[in-house]
Amino acid sequence: MIAAKGYAAQTPGTPLAPWNFERREPGPHDVQFDILFCGVCHSDLHQVRNDWFPGIFPMVPGHEIVGRVIKVGDHVKKFKVGDLAGTGCLVDSCRTCENCRQDLEQYCLNGNSQTYNGLEQDKKTPTYGGYSNTIVVHEDFVLHISKKLDLAAAAPLLCAGITTWSPLRHWKVGKGHKLAVLGLGGLGHMGVKFGVAFGAEVTVLSTSPKKEADAKKLGAHHFLVTTDPAQVKAATHSFDFILDTVSAEHDINMYMSMLKTHGTHICVGVPPKPAPIHPFSLIGGRKSLAGSGIGGLAETQEMLDFCEKHNIVSDIEIIDIKNIQDAYDRMLKGDVRYRFVIDMATL
Ligand code: NAP
Ligand code: ZN
Ligand code: ZN
Repeated sequence: MIAAKGYAAQTPGTPLAPWNFERREPGPHDVQFDILFCGVCHSDLHQVRNDWFPGIFPMVPGHEIVGRVIKVGDHVKKFKVGDLAGTGCLVDSCRTCENCRQDLEQYCLNGNSQTYNGLEQDKKTPTYGGYSNTIVVHEDFVLHISKKLDLAAAAPLLCAGITTWSPLRHWKVGKGHKLAVLGLGGLGHMGVKFGVAFGAEVTVLSTSPKKEADAKKLGAHHFLVTTDPAQVKAATHSFDFILDTVSAEHDINMYMSMLKTHGTHICVGVPPKPAPIHPFSLIGGRKSLAGSGIGGLAETQEMLDFCEKHNIVSDIEIIDIKNIQDAYDRMLKGDVRYRFVIDMATL
């Protein structure tokens, strides 16, 4: 086994603190890479607090992981020592089910292996995430990161990037569409960047009036403050798609009133409590309520290659791992511009 160190929550809701643990020695198909940066996703906060379901503790969060390869197994073909590498929310899946065979490992029917707060495919060994110094992953679940991108700012592409890319691609959002991005945080700001890159007319729906200038800098065409009933009313029947990235309780019915006939409200945010939906919100205008989870491995590489070509990365604030609790507190207040990324040299 390999000695690893990281930051872990020992029990739900307790502050993260240094923790030593072990990872497996790289097998023939494994890549070991030292972690240089790891993004801080709101899902990390949800999971260390058991917001969704009882988690596996101790928990080392982090699924926006980038670093440099230090060891490869004998059969590894895609990577060599010294390469840049990244891992997102998945470290394995069954690879045989109908979804895995269609590059939809995120929807593996036999249960994929999440990067942390999950189990390896033996269904016994807990996984530990990227708030740590090193990681061992099967090469099929390791992504290439271009040298042309700022490495720290590329880390959030592994979750915030692919989670917004995948639905926009699936619903073919682009030229001629009016897209609203609901919530301007880590996911939201990537949704704006991709929506603009795909040619959609993008509106940011936000509870934070102070984010308007940033939204415009990110390329958004319009900005709407959702706590102002007059602005909400004026936006009735406006959008083809709403990409909902909100992490906390909010009234989806109100937002659906802003959709055009046949519009689609896409949930990617996962608030702790289920949201009540009135059927009238769907019936009036034959609207759809949909959801989307991260993305498959091939699609994630496609997104990273697009980002290399179009020089798209996340807007980040680099933090020392010792300040992770403060980052979580700020994230809860919606005060992130627009992704915290841990410099793992501070571990
Ligand atoms: P984040 O950076 O904290 O951004 C969330 C944004 O939601 C905030 O910046 C804020 O934007 C808005 N917001 C917060 N509370 C709100 C409220 N009460 N009402 C309305 N808006 C509110 O979080 P994130 O990392 O982008 O993650 C967002 C959500 O997506 C989380 O629930 C996370 O777990 C989930 N997620 C899902 C997937 C997936 O596969 N589907 C993947 C990753 C993350 P404004 O200030 O602009 O209002
Ligand atoms: Zn995430
Ligand atoms: Zn599968």
